[in-house]
Amino acid sequence: MSAGEADEILVGGVWRRGSGAVIESLSPVDGSVIARLHGADAADVDEAVRAGAAAAADPAWRDLLPHDRARFLVRIADAIARSSERLAALQTRDTGKSINETRALVSSAQATFRYFAAALETVEESLTPPRGPYLTMSVHEPIGVVGAITPWNSPIASDAQKIAPALAAGNAVVLKPAEWTPLVALALGRLIDESGLPAGLLSVLPGPGDVTGDALVRHPGVGKVSFTGGTATGRAIGAAAAQKIMPVSLELGGKSPTIVFPDADMERTIAGLLFGVFSSSGQSCIAGSRVFVHASVYEQVLGELVARAGGLRVGPGTDPATQVAPLVTHAHRDRVAGMVRRARQEGARVLCGGRAPEGPRWSDGAYYLPTILDGLPNGSATCQEEIFGPVLVALPFEDEDDLVAQANDSVYGLACGIWTRDYRRAWRVARRIDAGTVWINTYKQFSISTPFGGMKESGIGREKGREGIFAYMRQKSVYWDLAEGPLPWAS
Ligand code: NAD
Repeated sequence: MSAGEADEILVGGVWRRGSGAVIESLSPVDGSVIARLHGADAADVDEAVRAGAAAAADPAWRDLLPHDRARFLVRIADAIARSSERLAALQTRDTGKSINETRALVSSAQATFRYFAAALETVEESLTPPRGPYLTMSVHEPIGVVGAITPWNSPIASDAQKIAPALAAGNAVVLKPAEWTPLVALALGRLIDESGLPAGLLSVLPGPGDVTGDALVRHPGVGKVSFTGGTATGRAIGAAAAQKIMPVSLELGGKSPTIVFPDADMERTIAGLLFGVFSSSGQSCIAGSRVFVHASVYEQVLGELVARAGGLRVGPGTDPATQVAPLVTHAHRDRVAGMVRRARQEGARVLCGGRAPEGPRWSDGAYYLPTILDGLPNGSATCQEEIFGPVLVALPFEDEDDLVAQANDSVYGLACGIWTRDYRRAWRVARRIDAGTVWINTYKQFSISTPFGGMKESGIGREKGREGIFAYMRQKSVYWDLAEGPLPWAS
């Protein structure tokens, strides 16, 4: 690890060196190694899961009343709030993201713990109408040990989105953060540990997906996996879960359409489109990466987008003025560049960007300029595949049916943006698009109380919202006899 940080991971309540191979976190700004630590191997996973199962079954946790369990979550939220600046700086160092974004992610993480602390006290069981002289109840219970697997693009927020509801529901959690960005998950683990959560209830096991992640998914002691990441990985996890008949939640990729009708407020629309695709340097599952513009305003909107994209401030994440920070690694930047090369081969017009910035200031960083492409059919690979970088592809449409057909012609169904002043049309189109979230005249806004998740190959299940707790519980029906007379067959 870097100076001042121990080469330790959290395994079943104990901070110690991982038994797996060394993993490195590289600086997106200059490629230097900012942390080197031993990841977890399958034996660490086994130890963490066993410790988690014991901690979850301990009456000291299992039998806590909701308001008492909620106190642990509030303490965690307070600890995150006290360390917010340090956590944001750490995440900027690890992921390259702009400091404004990482501050927002830390704020979202602490709010998530607070929300589930409150939501926990609203969880109600139900009495169902009986068909005889008995009481029927539907109750919910913890699963036991939950495996949480998260990606690198918004680590602390994704981690919190799984840990908070899973703990609220009474489980233990084994978190497997992305190997590229382990630092903030470990820092969060320290805070949670120091906030007094009973030992063993949380393990933090960074390591390669095909080693640590795979061992976690297949471990017989893990009763549920909640995964956020790419669709190919989600498919593999779903297949492994099927072997165990284990429930999974999958938050996967996207190629989200944003739609511009001619009557839209153009000033707000242009700002919303740019923010929707270029914030987080496009490394966002919900990036509005396909824009459909009505043919009558296509040239006007594209002209404005290109002019404004060229003025976005590209720079290091540590500069509060930065709008487009470097990508997470040089390898990922090169992958994005390769996808733009392929777009050119497919016949795309590159309207702006299409390359890394040039000059000594940029030569060491994983930068890529905001890029706008057009001239491709919706069926092209560029319009169908997630690029996960600052790349927008524009397409014209003629009428609503043409638009809906094109927008829905995608394996993904994560998000959608609609820009129009016509409220009837906004409603109609919102209901016709295959997307788990639709934003009307806004984009990338989030509320922890509103469920989030994907349709089609963008995922299964929902996070957030009060129902988010039930995703980490098992349902049980109880029949309780109240009859005075003898039971049938008694005589
Ligand atoms: P990824 O699928 O490569 O990795 C995600 C996590 O899965 C990492 O921790 C990785 O180590 C682990 N993993 C990899 N192979 C595994 C295996 N065989 N078994 C178990 N775990 C394994 O994704 P990524 O590149 O880290 O993240 C980018 C992707 O995540 C994008 O596709 C993006 O759209 C998606 N994403 C989705 C959401 C959402 O909420 N829908 C949010 C953020 C990111």
